[in-house]
Amino acid sequence: MSSRIHHQLVVIGGGAAGLGVAARMLRGAQCNDVAIIEPSEHHFYQPLWTLVGGGVIGREASRKPMAELIPAGAKWIRDAVIEFRPEQNLLRTRDGLEVEYEYLVVAPGLQIDWDKIDGLPEALGKNGVCSNYSYDTVESTWQNIRGFKGGNAIFTFPPPPIKCAGAPQKIMYLAEDYFRKQGLRDKSNVIYYCATPSIFSAPHYAEALNRQVVGPRNIDVRYKHNLVAIRGEAKEAVFRNTESGEEVVQSYDMIHVVPPMSAPDFVKQSPLANEAGWVDVNKETLQHSRFSNVFGIGDASSLPTSKTAAAVRAQAPVLEANLSAVMRGQQPEARYDGYTSCPLVTGYGKLILAEFDYDLKPCETFPFDQSKERWSMYQLKRYVLPVIYWKGLLRGYQWPRPGA
Ligand code: FAD
Repeated sequence: MSSRIHHQLVVIGGGAAGLGVAARMLRGAQCNDVAIIEPSEHHFYQPLWTLVGGGVIGREASRKPMAELIPAGAKWIRDAVIEFRPEQNLLRTRDGLEVEYEYLVVAPGLQIDWDKIDGLPEALGKNGVCSNYSYDTVESTWQNIRGFKGGNAIFTFPPPPIKCAGAPQKIMYLAEDYFRKQGLRDKSNVIYYCATPSIFSAPHYAEALNRQVVGPRNIDVRYKHNLVAIRGEAKEAVFRNTESGEEVVQSYDMIHVVPPMSAPDFVKQSPLANEAGWVDVNKETLQHSRFSNVFGIGDASSLPTSKTAAAVRAQAPVLEANLSAVMRGQQPEARYDGYTSCPLVTGYGKLILAEFDYDLKPCETFPFDQSKERWSMYQLKRYVLPVIYWKGLLRGYQWPRPGA
């Protein structure tokens, strides 16, 4: 039998977006009845997984108990949402709870579709197949990089949108740097198969990457190729050309796979979704396009920017301002400009800090050319951004903008 409860504000997801927004709404005293629905026992600082996969730090540093991060004053409902009924201001959970709300923030992140690549679920973690895209598999990346003795090292990028569109190439640059330091570079081919037609979405940084990294380090890039199957035992990957449809079979000694991603199924199937399945929000105000008491933020949203925690940091104050205005019966007037950031690790101790907006134009924080590889920006990613994430973003504090 189902039971029914009511909260003024319900936040779905205790990720980067959900925790930050809940903390903001409570701290600003806009609302003192906030419930967070989140099934996971742990919260994961996913931006660290690039450095975990590169052997810089252990995966434990990326994980904290959810109970320690739920903001004081919020009620944690440890359950998963399965259905939305926005006409009735109601949602249903896996454990049979019916939750009524006055205001709703939808932030359940995105879904990783491992099984959309034939043979991948069985092959992961074995026979040279690894991925930074989950806590369970991230250590297999470093095992493969460390154990590589030469041959073909393959890195993939699926059709976007994905979270952190820079992450698929960051791990490749770390691996290539490691192979070089081990004296293995002469006997290895580093090949990047990406479904997109360019190395990075923002042209300013794409040009910088090609000029400073891809060209000089002899990285072989095969554009418009999408991974469709892994033959684990044979150590072969099958790619399909996104234009001609032609199939290419590539043998590998190690392969870092970035799986396809999509909106979570329970969002896709709901009245809140747009045609592509994402939470259908206004790209400036973050308010839902049909239900004015519903807001969306983060990876699950339809916001047409690169899906990152850094983007969440720019979205959260806009959402806070606009949700508070709607609660007061006013119009949402704060505007999000699409700001996102990608700390592009290009080697051990080197990083290009990309920051750009909806127009893919750079909007950089520091008074120097951020498209140049820098040691200082690597230190920012390694030591400063984690502090900003745990102590700033998740607690709902406003910090200067760079990265996450
Ligand atoms: P998440 O943080 O993923 O949180 C979603 C939460 O919703 C989870 O806790 C989940 O358990 C919960 N949830 C799921 N389903 C339900 C349900 N049915 N009901 C209730 N709750 C649910 N970003 C950067 O800014 N910089 C980087 O360098 C960077 N590098 C990255 C590297 C990798 C390898 C990866 C994987 C990501 C990286 N990111 C980076 C992206 C960043 O981690 C995400 O964009 C960010 O976490 C998005 O926040 P979110 O709250 O939308 O989703």
